[in-house]
Amino acid sequence: MSDKIIMVTRSSMPDFEEYCREIKDLWESRWLTNNGTKHGILEKQLEDYFGTPNVTLFTNGHLALENVLEAMDLPKGGEVITTPFTFASTTHAIVRSGLTPVFCDIKRSDYTIDESLIEPLITDKTCAILPVHVYGKVCNVEEIQRIAEKHSLKVIYDAAHTFGVTYKGISTANFGDAAMFSFHATKVFHTIEGGAICCRDDNLARRLCDIKNFGIHGPESTLYIGGNAKMNEFQAAMGICNLRHLDEEIAKRKNVVERYCSRLSGVDGMDLCKDQPYVENNYAYFPVIFNPEKFGSDRDDVFSALAQNNIMARKYFYPLTSAFECYHGRFEPQKTPIALRLSQRVLTLPLYSDLELDCVDRICDIVLRCKKQ
Ligand SMILES: *Cc1c(COP(=O)(O)O)cnc(C)c1O
Repeated sequence: MSDKIIMVTRSSMPDFEEYCREIKDLWESRWLTNNGTKHGILEKQLEDYFGTPNVTLFTNGHLALENVLEAMDLPKGGEVITTPFTFASTTHAIVRSGLTPVFCDIKRSDYTIDESLIEPLITDKTCAILPVHVYGKVCNVEEIQRIAEKHSLKVIYDAAHTFGVTYKGISTANFGDAAMFSFHATKVFHTIEGGAICCRDDNLARRLCDIKNFGIHGPESTLYIGGNAKMNEFQAAMGICNLRHLDEEIAKRKNVVERYCSRLSGVDGMDLCKDQPYVENNYAYFPVIFNPEKFGSDRDDVFSALAQNNIMARKYFYPLTSAFECYHGRFEPQKTPIALRLSQRVLTLPLYSDLELDCVDRICDIVLRCKKQ
């Protein structure tokens, strides 16, 4: 065993004093949640940052996704074309909304949904496409839009990994009918727990505001059978502070990623995720695909070697959501063979803004030592 433990991620935080200054007014106003001042400020700041007309804040990204599926009034039992190579939330949100996920395979090149395989999956029950900008890689938004328009389908992006990512200069908040962001503590930008839906449709945004607050539209008017998914003032205050430091956060992550790349690119049997054309990266994750035939060791060997040295990498995303125990017998993971194979070979290495380059070197040394000639 050596040195201090390195987790796969570590939350960034503003200075203690900065956060205290931000929350001080709350002791005066005693307005702690329900569309408070901080909530209003953060929504406005995010609309400006994303360049999008409507940002609706939520207590977390998952409920944002469930709420937008509800607000779109998709038919019960409707099919939603999505990817199994994602966090539990994406698939669970579909199922918990009474909809049926239909899994589409992903591309080897960037792990996002393979747009060329979407159309054959469309049936008369298909109502939406829910792709994931996985690891911050942007889906083929143009082709997905074309398919959606041709078949009158809604598009909801799980953009949880893409805070700060732009494609052709446009934030991923602006693609599809709606985009969901997660502001969980482990994300590039966070509000402790939190999330948002970005959409162009003002009516959809208004419905979301009501649905996240029990469906209450006014003092004597309740329009929807909504739940409670509101962001509180302490979360919003954390967001206001973190947004001030976002550029610095991304720049520091970039440094870490560049160090990883300089040490690990070109190694036989290890595939690193390539930059995409026209995409401004946010350096959210550092996934590595290990090909055991060429590398000599498999993903699990590398995972264990790191763990023995107190370094906690993550098998993210393994297993596929379609292979979860809770879905036993419902889906067939082997129908998305590329996703299945990548899930068995992927390891995400530790990445956060304060990760020291010495630690990156230590991690790379251990990974490279796993390579058998
Ligand atoms: C983090 C995450 C979510 C869920 O967000 P929470 O804010 O944790 O509820 C959904 N999808 C993906 C891909 C995520 O990484």
